Amino acid sequence: DQQQCDHGTKSNAPTKCIAVITSGGDAQGMNAAVRAAVRMAIYNDARVFAVHEGYQGLVEGEDFIKEMTWSNFLIVLILKGGTIIGTARCQEFRAKEGRIKAAKNLVGRGISNLMVIGGDGSLTGANLFRREWTELLTILIERGEIPENSLIEYPVLNIVGLVGSIDNDFCGTKMTIGADSALHRILECANAIITTASSHRRTFVLEVMGRRCGYLALISGLAIGADWIFIPEVPPEDGWEERMCAQLKAARNVGNRLNIIVLAEGAVDIHGNAITAEQVKQILVKYAQQDTRITVLGHVQRGGSPSAFDRILGCRMGAEAVLSLLESTVDTTPFVIGLQGNDMIRVPLMECVEKTRNLAKAMDEHNFEAALDLRNFGNTLSIFKGCNYYSPIPCDQKFRICIMAVGAPAAGMNAAIRSVTRLSINQGHEVFCIRDGFEGLLSDTDNVQKMEWVTVHDWIAKGGCDIGTKRTLPSVNMEKIAAGFKKYKFHGLVIIGGFEAFKSATQLLEARNTFEAFAIPIIVIPATLSNNVPGTDYSLGTDTSLNVIVEVCYHRIRQSATAANHRVFVVETMGGNCGYLATMAGLASGADAAYIFEEKYNINDLQGDVAHMIAKFKQDKIHRGLLLTNEFCSRNYDTDFITRLFADEGKEYFTTRKNVLGHVQQGGYPSPFDRVLSSRFAYAATSFLIREIKNNIRGDGVMNASHPSTVALVGSQNRSLRISPVTDLMAVADFDKRIPKQQWWMRLRPLMRILAHHKQTFQRE
Ligand code: ATP
Repeated sequence: DQQQCDHGTKSNAPTKCIAVITSGGDAQGMNAAVRAAVRMAIYNDARVFAVHEGYQGLVEGEDFIKEMTWSNFLIVLILKGGTIIGTARCQEFRAKEGRIKAAKNLVGRGISNLMVIGGDGSLTGANLFRREWTELLTILIERGEIPENSLIEYPVLNIVGLVGSIDNDFCGTKMTIGADSALHRILECANAIITTASSHRRTFVLEVMGRRCGYLALISGLAIGADWIFIPEVPPEDGWEERMCAQLKAARNVGNRLNIIVLAEGAVDIHGNAITAEQVKQILVKYAQQDTRITVLGHVQRGGSPSAFDRILGCRMGAEAVLSLLESTVDTTPFVIGLQGNDMIRVPLMECVEKTRNLAKAMDEHNFEAALDLRNFGNTLSIFKGCNYYSPIPCDQKFRICIMAVGAPAAGMNAAIRSVTRLSINQGHEVFCIRDGFEGLLSDTDNVQKMEWVTVHDWIAKGGCDIGTKRTLPSVNMEKIAAGFKKYKFHGLVIIGGFEAFKSATQLLEARNTFEAFAIPIIVIPATLSNNVPGTDYSLGTDTSLNVIVEVCYHRIRQSATAANHRVFVVETMGGNCGYLATMAGLASGADAAYIFEEKYNINDLQGDVAHMIAKFKQDKIHRGLLLTNEFCSRNYDTDFITRLFADEGKEYFTTRKNVLGHVQQGGYPSPFDRVLSSRFAYAATSFLIREIKNNIRGDGVMNASHPSTVALVGSQNRSLRISPVTDLMAVADFDKRIPKQQWWMRLRPLMRILAHHKQTFQRE
């Protein structure tokens, strides 16, 4: 009963009135959702009202419920954390008399569609309100407070829910609005703590939010490379104190200068007793003699600017929610808008609320197995342990696993190398890196280095690529490279990188007939900020880069635009021929347009956009415009041309400036998403490699992998991990343009145009 949907054709429904409300705890990205909802509603000729201060505003009415116009929600909104229409916890709405008042306030304005952004409490309240609607209106009619025909005019209250919660604790969506931003805040703090902890050889207990849900603690623990985590769904068995101390000591013994423990605020032991940060500290001081400090992050996690992911999620969910309301009839089930894979889905609201409640009940009853199952944390926990607990299993036959990087550096490469190294060592194998990619084997110096557990200790948080990366492909000197592989007797190879890494794998596969040294399993881990690798929706480094671009567009460019009135900025992003960064940064920063190679445009389109920009400066009284271009968007109508065109044609209304972002986009610290994805890719890649080595090793220990499926690429497709043979991917890749033939994110482009007030009509794909 889930409906697949995405932003479809313009609705033909008659004018509807929609109220938008944010309720419960705030979360970064709520504003982006409100903005998208308001604009999508107006685009569809509906009237839209913002209810200020949550259900309290609904109960009070008056000025708390205000009709919105297009320019009420300017670009600045998408960039702000929290909710600018306010939120509150409202006791009055819990009582029927409060809901009677709320119904009167809606009917009085002709509103019978309600979009609620909040947690499970807020959505339960909305559902109750909807169920009681007839009763509430009947009471109001009897009291003579609303016209007699109100029930005929407004027979039903349509509702739709969006989940805004930093805890990611709601069943029905893979991600809630705000969770990714909270992870950004946690990692920013952790980065700061790690430097001081390392200087003093200290242990830190980092307490993060999550009373009932361990998502933030688990994911940040994985992304920091913590030594131990406590989450409510996996309470430690008796004796955890000794096990934790032993684990921390073992980490120090293999060379760690510090230890980090991440603790969810709702952590409990197997008997349901709370485990506090203070208690953990006492244990560490007493039994492990470690200088231990506590940092409780608290509301920092709710604050700050939303991440690129949350802005895009908010935009997509807000727009989809409005479409769902516009399509509602008296018989429509109320929905929650969720994210599944890369798609927006509509899921029955009460089913989600019930599942979420069942989970809470399972926790209350100490049925932790059921809770863990419902949360689906099992695999992430295994990856966490494999990457952070040093526990090599004895192994009869040690395989020699080789890692190399090819192409430009990207955030997350180091993290992936760390995970491959540690997961392989824990499986009992040896890991080597070739420095500087294939060039490393061509040089006369020995560029092969053994990787130890401690070599990669802090690589999860390091940008760039510490083993060096070069663009050189193996085809430059296949013979010498084969000789290098033979010399070091590698059993399997991991290549980390972008399109060149993929291409290198195809070349090695082709060269197998000539050089038996390549008869080894090979796996590619996609890592490039361009996000142009076939077989994966996301490459490592892309998310970090997107966040850098969005941050630059917001903090640097917007602020300079505030000083200089009436300015249009043209910002050029990297990406080769792939327009992913320009498109997604455009959506995340509320840009007016994003020009990319994959969507052809001509001079008429550009002239139309100039006219549109001038009209905006005149009518909407805005003071700035933002245009994104992809570096190879067009041979002739490129960034320079677009800048000059807007500068000249718009000179009476605005000045135009160009910014080419360049290498800053390679980012510093990898984003939480890139760190986690790197571990997941590494886990899948290592499992593939070890399995295929076992399947293809001869009795004399020499490798004999001949089937093409033994050369593959690990990718994230619709947010599930998939290993694809490179032979399959060759058919879906455009080698000339160095992009995949189909790209999933192209369908988000119309939404960006609509939110930028273009007269856009578009068809569902
Ligand atoms: P968070 O996850 O941040 O706590 P939430 O939406 O679950 O968000 P709650 O405090 O549970 O936060 O609910 C917010 C508001 O929703 C309440 O203050 C109340 O006005 C309304 N509400 C919650 N539960 C109900 C209910 N069962 N009946 C009516 N109204 C409710």
